[in-house]
Amino acid sequence: MTTPATSSTASEKLTRKDFVAPGDVRWCPGCGDYAILNALQRTLPELGVPRENFVVISGIGCSSRFPYYLNTYGFHTIHGRGPAVATGVKVANPDLSVWLVTGDGDGLSIGGNHLLHLLRRNVNVNVLLFNNRIYGLTKGQYSPTSPLGTRTGTTPMGSIDPPIDPVLFSLGAKVGFIARTVDNNPNHMIETFKAAHRHQGVAFIEILQNCVIFNNGTWDNVYSKENRDDHLLFLKKGQPLLLGRNNNKGIVLHGVHPRVVPVGENGVPVEDVMTHQPDHESPLFVRMLALMGPPGLPLPIGILRQRSRPTYESQVTAQIEAARKQNGNGSWNELLCGPASWTVE
Ligand code: SF4
Repeated sequence: MTTPATSSTASEKLTRKDFVAPGDVRWCPGCGDYAILNALQRTLPELGVPRENFVVISGIGCSSRFPYYLNTYGFHTIHGRGPAVATGVKVANPDLSVWLVTGDGDGLSIGGNHLLHLLRRNVNVNVLLFNNRIYGLTKGQYSPTSPLGTRTGTTPMGSIDPPIDPVLFSLGAKVGFIARTVDNNPNHMIETFKAAHRHQGVAFIEILQNCVIFNNGTWDNVYSKENRDDHLLFLKKGQPLLLGRNNNKGIVLHGVHPRVVPVGENGVPVEDVMTHQPDHESPLFVRMLALMGPPGLPLPIGILRQRSRPTYESQVTAQIEAARKQNGNGSWNELLCGPASWTVE
């Protein structure tokens, strides 16, 4: 467990420095984790939350060293079990701002079962899933998000199991806030983190992250300087789905399939381009976005889905209050020795 050096109040002006923990940061030089850490350290002081009300929880992996590097309360838990601890922390004290940091291996393989239940229960926790499509800490084995055919020490002839799509996984768990961002765009990360904090309910953010040692360039086909204009689709609520250096391309529906077409003088009018509706009642719209990506289609970046439903902790609290109202406070003695107990002879 990690603890902040000093406490603060909601009215006290915090800065990035207040969230920088003493001690060295130990990731490989050039790792995408540095940029994500910096973005979160810049986000937290702007949320109007006293520093001692932040808790950062992780499992195991390179990304899971986050609690050491943020000057907040934190738990570096065990393999894949961050979601269980995060659920307990949030239910026990709903006033806390809880951030769960995990990776593709920790979150979708080792702890896939645990993450699934945090998501479907709608615990008001912000989940940051760093997706570098490899196990970094254990030196480069293929992960549940590695593309088919990935050659590693454990898949010398190429992986043969199809990868999990984190966004589709979260959609299957009916998550209300689903977003995707990239480790080479700090402002986009910060805006996405702030939106996740504002959302009441679980917020799931996939962050495309580069592991410079074991999977360098895994996202270059979408987010390198040369590719990003044509291969990233930045989502803005109520705005047309446009891309290209001058927004000269857009997404239209052909039957049930999205297509990229030219927009403007030599193409379709912008009014014909689909509009981004993250709050659409039907999950079909976000499912269409989630299935988009190369080759042939750009990868959507931003908030894919944003809809509210009651949080897990608010319902637990309401049930406890209702039971108290009906039956009084009760006592441990009565629970352990009352009519519901029995004697084994
Ligand atoms: Fe980052 Fe990869 Fe090094 Fe881990 S192994 S710290 S993910 S570059």
